Amino acid sequence: MTNTKLDNLLELVREREAQFENELKPVDSQDNAQASVTLTTLKHSWIGRKSGLISELMSLMSSLAPTNRRAFGQSVNKLKTKIETAINDREAKLSKTKTLSNIDVTLPGRPLPIGREHPLIRVRQQIEDIFMRMGYEVLEGPEVEDDYHNFEALNMPPEHPARDMQDTLYLETPIVGGKWGLHRSTIPTTQASAATLLRTHTSAMQIRYMKSTAPPIRIIVPGRVYRRDNLDLSHTPMFQQVEGLVVGKGITFADLKGTFDAMLRELFGDIKIRFRPSFFPYTEPSAEVDISCKNCEGRGCGICKQTGWLEILGSGMVHPAVFEAVDYDPDCFTGFAFGIGMERVAMLKYDVDDIRMFYENDLRFLEQFPPA
Ligand SMILES: [Zn+2]
Repeated sequence: MTNTKLDNLLELVREREAQFENELKPVDSQDNAQASVTLTTLKHSWIGRKSGLISELMSLMSSLAPTNRRAFGQSVNKLKTKIETAINDREAKLSKTKTLSNIDVTLPGRPLPIGREHPLIRVRQQIEDIFMRMGYEVLEGPEVEDDYHNFEALNMPPEHPARDMQDTLYLETPIVGGKWGLHRSTIPTTQASAATLLRTHTSAMQIRYMKSTAPPIRIIVPGRVYRRDNLDLSHTPMFQQVEGLVVGKGITFADLKGTFDAMLRELFGDIKIRFRPSFFPYTEPSAEVDISCKNCEGRGCGICKQTGWLEILGSGMVHPAVFEAVDYDPDCFTGFAFGIGMERVAMLKYDVDDIRMFYENDLRFLEQFPPA
């Protein structure tokens, strides 16, 4: 009687063994992902601690007479070892093929994208380098200015017609706690010097610096400036300038000419330089500076509008009224100032015919400038 019971249970172990082999078989023809799912399921249903089929077999042990338990236990343990080994083997094989199939050592490497300097950053750095070697200090000033520093102290009192040369973006209210809405308000003349605006030129920093520093002075001020211009091939409402200012005893127009000569030749190579009389309220005399067109070598072409010359910067000797505004003695000190547009320099240097390209961040444009 008891032997029959043992035989029945041993028979059950053999059936389970056959069942496991059947369930394992598909693994060898499945792809890696599927095989790994099947193996996990098998592990759970066969050797899971609580609900696995092996645990279930073990629990039948108590129904046997004590003398038969050992034989049954050995048989179940043998099956358990077989299942564990089969699953472990398959898993080891999977992780090996996974590693091999994921790495193809014959594939060429993928190039990493390398960042590039924006052409305007490059021009700015080059200009800064040139002037630093000449002993200049590089400063930055506030982009939100007041009317006094931007206009009045630069010899442009309220109602001065030269203010119209620079169409200005006024801020609705003073900066502190104010809105930043941009519209041109009609500001009463009496309050004009308190009006807040986006600086129309970096020249505003001349006043700030001279008010806090005694001569001699040699500075450049690179930075953004703003005007009410519509976007076109050569205008943007925001652009970048480098302001320069030199003040000392006995500074003459010859110093101005020598400085530009050195700077422009370093920026553009072998070119000719021309000075044309001009007008700025804050300099007297004033001059615009042209360089010869490299494209046509002065014969005239589309780039230089058939003139053979390209306008590059505005300059002049500091007006005595500006010195008076900052309490410098105009009988004692002289100086020169200039402003150069960075976009203009970059356009000429790199043959760019549309200023908007500098601000569109189109990678097809930016990637044409090789990494520095
Ligand atoms: Zn030309």
